[in-house]
Amino acid sequence: MSGAEEANTRIAIDGPAGSGKTTTGKLVATRFGFRFFDTGIMYRAATRMAQLQGVAFTDEATIVHSIEESVLEFVFDDAGDFRVFILGADETDSLRSPEVDHGVSTVAALPVVRQLMVQMQRDIAGDDQIVMVGRDIGTVVLPDAELKIYLTASAEERARRRFEQNRSSGIRQNFDEIVTDLKARDVLDSEREASPLRPADDSISVSSDGKSLEEVVDEVAQLVKAAE
Ligand code: C5P
Repeated sequence: MSGAEEANTRIAIDGPAGSGKTTTGKLVATRFGFRFFDTGIMYRAATRMAQLQGVAFTDEATIVHSIEESVLEFVFDDAGDFRVFILGADETDSLRSPEVDHGVSTVAALPVVRQLMVQMQRDIAGDDQIVMVGRDIGTVVLPDAELKIYLTASAEERARRRFEQNRSSGIRQNFDEIVTDLKARDVLDSEREASPLRPADDSISVSSDGKSLEEVVDEVAQLVKAAE
């Protein structure tokens, strides 16, 4: 892959769990010298907060109250990495646990939680060059993004990738459990009432099935250049 290339655009990448949005998005951002932001972390943070406080994942009023009371804090550290603090403790490394995976789509379906998160995400994006990844970036968060990608892959391929990622981060979860979880999240994310997962009308669909990471990044990079 080559070094920095000129571009001047905001890129929304949406798609189901495990489609490779984060890895692809980060590499595309690096290639073009854009900032990168993964919105899934915010919903994971709200889920981890509820878990630590012993609050039900469906208890919207209490979760919203805690967010408004700054129980949850989002901070960019000196290296530009986004870190999550819950009651003052850095919880960034616990956001990808199977327990959070399991509850996050329930929390993310709460409409007022989404309103708060979307506002923060728009503030983070500003008018800057950024690659933002999630489920509703092209449809709700940045509906006027210059380029919208909808990244897909089969459920088996996505589960295989998640299994490998988990293994390299020391998280033990069996393959069948991951498949079941991903499929359950797909259903919850695409059938919820508040900004469900769906491709924006003006998005371009990219499948990562059977492609190497580099091939997918190259394909998206071509689309970025074409959108300039
Ligand atoms: O992308 P990631 O798998 O980390 O997202 C975790 C969950 O957060 C998703 O399954 C979805 O329920 C929720 N999410 C969302 N909207 C976003 C990003 C994530 O609803 N923009």
